[in-house]
Amino acid sequence: MIDTVNGDVSFWHAQLGPHRPRAPLRNSISVDVCIVGAGLTGLWTAYYLKQASPAMSIVVVDQRFVGFGASGRNGGWLSAAVAGSLDRYAQRRGVDAACALQRAMIDAVDEVIRVAHDEGINADIVKGGVLRVARTPSQLLRLSKASAAARRWGDSQTTLSAESTRQRINVAGALGGSFSANGARLHPAKLVRGLADVVEAMGVAIYEATPVTAIRPHEAVTPCGTISAQFVVRATEGFTAAIPSMHRLWLPMNSSMIVTVPLPAATWDEIGWRGGETLGDSAHTFMYAQRTADGRVAVGGRGVPYRYGSRIDRNGETAPVTVAELRKVLTEFFPVLRDVPVEHAWSGVLGVPRDWCATVGLDRATGLAAAGGYVGHGVAATNLAGRTLRDLILDHDSDLIHLPWVNWRARTWEPEPLRWLGVRALYLAYRAADRAEASGRSTTSAFARVADMIAGR
Ligand SMILES: Cc1cc2nc3c(=O)[nH]c(=O)nc-3n(C[C@H](O)[C@H](O)[C@H](O)COP(=O)(O)OP(=O)(O)OC[C@H]3O[C@@H](n4cnc5c(N)ncnc54)[C@H](O)[C@@H]3O)c2cc1C
Repeated sequence: MIDTVNGDVSFWHAQLGPHRPRAPLRNSISVDVCIVGAGLTGLWTAYYLKQASPAMSIVVVDQRFVGFGASGRNGGWLSAAVAGSLDRYAQRRGVDAACALQRAMIDAVDEVIRVAHDEGINADIVKGGVLRVARTPSQLLRLSKASAAARRWGDSQTTLSAESTRQRINVAGALGGSFSANGARLHPAKLVRGLADVVEAMGVAIYEATPVTAIRPHEAVTPCGTISAQFVVRATEGFTAAIPSMHRLWLPMNSSMIVTVPLPAATWDEIGWRGGETLGDSAHTFMYAQRTADGRVAVGGRGVPYRYGSRIDRNGETAPVTVAELRKVLTEFFPVLRDVPVEHAWSGVLGVPRDWCATVGLDRATGLAAAGGYVGHGVAATNLAGRTLRDLILDHDSDLIHLPWVNWRARTWEPEPLRWLGVRALYLAYRAADRAEASGRSTTSAFARVADMIAGR
C-alpha cells in the first residue's frame, strides 16, 4: 500500500515536478497594466492584452507562484457551464443576453483548445464532452429538468438512458444521464504553466513571491515596492478575502480532490470511459471526475466547505475525513476500485459571490478591473474573462463587453459568525437532502429547498 500524499498544492503540480521559480519584484515600477494573480484569469488577460497591444507594458504578480491557486489544482473540466445562474442574469439583463453568455462560454471551450494548440501548450486536452449521471430517482428528475433548461439557453444536451450512460462510463447504479459535447478534459498545471511561459515569451513580466497587500486606484502595493499602473486587474479569486476591504466580497469555498494510481488495462475494460468525458453527478453535494491522460481517476467534491473567518488553506492540505468521503464516492461509483491506492489528496479555494454569479468589470475612473467569483466553473470562464478585460481596457466596443456578467454587482457576505453558520447550515442541509434522496424518493428533498433559501439561490 502506498501512502497518500496530502497537500503539496496539487497532484497536477507534483506530477510535473518543481516549477521554474521566477524572481520577486525588487523595487517600485510603473507600467501600463498590473495584473494581481498568476492564475488563468490573470494569464489569459495578459495574453490577450499583449497580443492586441504589443507595446503595452504588462506585469503579472503572484504571492506564491504561477498556478498556485485553483488554476493549478482544479478538476480539469473545461466546460461551457456558466459560472452563475442564467435565470438570474436573464432576470436582470434579459433572456437574449443570458443566451449570448451561454454561447460565449461554448465558444470559450473551443478558444482554449485553439490557443493551446496554436501556442504549443500540451495540456492533455481531449474534447470528450461532459457526462452527468443520476444515481437516484430525484437526481434523474433534476437532471432531465437541467438538460431541458440547458437546451433552452443553447447548450444542446442529450438525455441518456441507464444503458447508454453505462456504455459510456460504467458507473454503478446509474439510472440515466445527460451528455453535452461542449466540454473537454485537461491537465490543469500543464495548461497554467504552459500559458505562463507563452505570456512571458510575448514580453509580459511575471513576478512570483510578491504578495499584494493593498489595491488602490492605479496602484498595487507590495512589500517589495509599489506598482503604479494605468490599470490594475484583480485576479485573486478565492484569495480575495485576504485583501484589505474585500473581506466579505467573495467567500473562499473549499473543493477537494483525490487521484488514484494508474489503473491497469483490465480495470479500464470494466469501467469503459474511453471517450475522455468529464464525469459528474447530480447530487446536491456533487462530485466531479476525470480519467487522466495517464490512466488514473481523479475525483473531487466539496469536503469541508468553509473555514471560519474566511481563512484560506495554504498548500492544499485536506482533512482525513474529506479524503475518506471522496474515497467512498470513488468506490460507490466504481466498486472495482475498492482496493486501488489513492496516490494524492489536495484542496483549493473557489471564489463565491453572495449571489453565486461570476463577474468581470472595469471602473475606468480608478483604473481598477477585476474578474472572478466563478464558484466551481472557472476553467473556461477565465478565458472569456481575459478577452473581456482586454476589450474593456482597450475600450473596444465588442459583443463581449455587453454580456450580462460585465460589471455585475452582488451584495457582500454577512459578517461572522453568520457567514460560517450559514455555510455550515447550507451544507448540512444539502447533505441531508442527498441522504433523503438516496432512499429512492423521486422528488427533491425539502432539505435542499431550505439550503437553496439559505444560499439565496
Ligand atoms: C479543487 C478545485 C477543483 C475545481 N475544478 C474545476 C473544474 O474542473 N472546472 C472548472 O471550470 N473550474 C474548476 N474549479 C474552479 C477553477 O479552477 C477556478 O475558477 C479558476 O482556476 C480560477 O482562476 P483564477 O485565475 O481566477 O484564480 P486562481 O487560480 O485561484 O488564481 C489566483 C492567484 O492569485 C494569487 N493571489 C491571490 N491573492 C494575491 C495577492 N494578494 N497578491 C498576489 N497574488 C495573489 C494566488 O496566489 C493565485 O495564484 C476548481 C477549483 C478547485 C479549487
